[in-house]
Amino acid sequence: MPAPMTLTEKILAKAAGRDAVAPNENIWVNVDVLMTHDVCGPGTIGIFKKHFGANAKVWDRENVVIIPDHYIFTKDAMANRNVDVLREFAKEQDLPYFYDVGTDRYKGVCHIALPEEGHTRPGEILLGTDSHTCTAGAFGQFATGIGNTDAGFVMGTGKTWLKVPPTMRFVFHGNLPPYLMAKDLILAVIGDIGVDGATYRAMEFDGDGVFALNIEERMTLCNMAIEAGGKNGLIPADAVTRKYVDERGKKTGSKPYTVFTPDAGAKYMFEKVYDVTKLEPVVAKPHSPDNKAFVSEVKGTKLDRAYIGSCTGGKMTDFRAAAGILNGKAVKIDTFVVPATTEVAAGLDTEMIGGKSLRSIFLNAGAKIGDASCAACLGGPSDTFGRLNTPISCISTTNRNFPGRMGHKEAKVFLASPLTVAASALTGVIEDPRNHVG
Ligand code: SF4
Repeated sequence: MPAPMTLTEKILAKAAGRDAVAPNENIWVNVDVLMTHDVCGPGTIGIFKKHFGANAKVWDRENVVIIPDHYIFTKDAMANRNVDVLREFAKEQDLPYFYDVGTDRYKGVCHIALPEEGHTRPGEILLGTDSHTCTAGAFGQFATGIGNTDAGFVMGTGKTWLKVPPTMRFVFHGNLPPYLMAKDLILAVIGDIGVDGATYRAMEFDGDGVFALNIEERMTLCNMAIEAGGKNGLIPADAVTRKYVDERGKKTGSKPYTVFTPDAGAKYMFEKVYDVTKLEPVVAKPHSPDNKAFVSEVKGTKLDRAYIGSCTGGKMTDFRAAAGILNGKAVKIDTFVVPATTEVAAGLDTEMIGGKSLRSIFLNAGAKIGDASCAACLGGPSDTFGRLNTPISCISTTNRNFPGRMGHKEAKVFLASPLTVAASALTGVIEDPRNHVG
């Protein structure tokens, strides 16, 4: 009988073809899905061709997923060239899952498009050339970001070498009050343990407070594991996960998957328990995601811009929350709304509050709505929608606020939940969402 294992250890043991693995062991694993995008795809493809040959074929064309999303709607020639490289490669390799911009297959931000299009399954290994690949841990799988060199090797072999991360456990109890979102929970965790508090560790989220969250909120929680240095973040799959995966999995042939749960008695190198009913809305002040403050401590701080978008804060749940606050009101500062994916963008027209579409609520409030993409989350070329081109202060639903992350090096970015961002958009200062929701 193997020793009790954490969820991450059980998934890695299966991928290594072993009964058990232990923290800090180096193991070879079989990879289920490799994702790349327009920023790192060209580099990955270059390494793949250099080492496997100009005419080499990817290890499994069904499981190499290419999603252009970062620098998409720009005149920048280098950015456009990157997408051309992906296009040529997808054609040459006859890849079925290339979501090309400018076609009706275009999706938007990779981490949200992956589950929407049926590429995330419990018990699997998903690697991506993007640090927020950990988002997919919300589906009970091991998902992590890798560099171009590793990705080039995975592209050719379907295998990689991993050190088994020790697991930290974060338990949330209670139902979230209406003024809190998963973003507040993860900002609280990162503020408590620091941006290096989980370096090369798995962050396992558990407890009735987590399982009460919908799948999009669980994605927000796992998305920011990397902001604490985590190797991966993950949540055991439950009925909510299986329902989503089974429905979306039809798009990719309903592949079988294994649901693992952590063993009773598994060893965690750290555990922290939160009562979510006692938490307050949280922001991360400039210039680090662990620069935590309660909204009550910084309310009244002057702002120039509000931004609601990204893989962290650009999903339907995020827009429903923000629209609930902006409904029938007018923003006081420039407010940018960027749906993560084209599916979310379509949802802005079909989701209603009091007979009004979310899109009309945002537009009537004076917000600007961009096309589905990463947009200004990562700054990008100067013509990027919502980019901070001057040293202004912005409150944002994104996940990073290092100097220059959203554009100008001297701009100040406060990270917050969609509720807090929407409330602040109405007042032009950091505003407590408790004044705007029941
Ligand atoms: S939305 Fe932001 S964090 Fe997410 S993948 Fe794009 S650039 Fe990265």
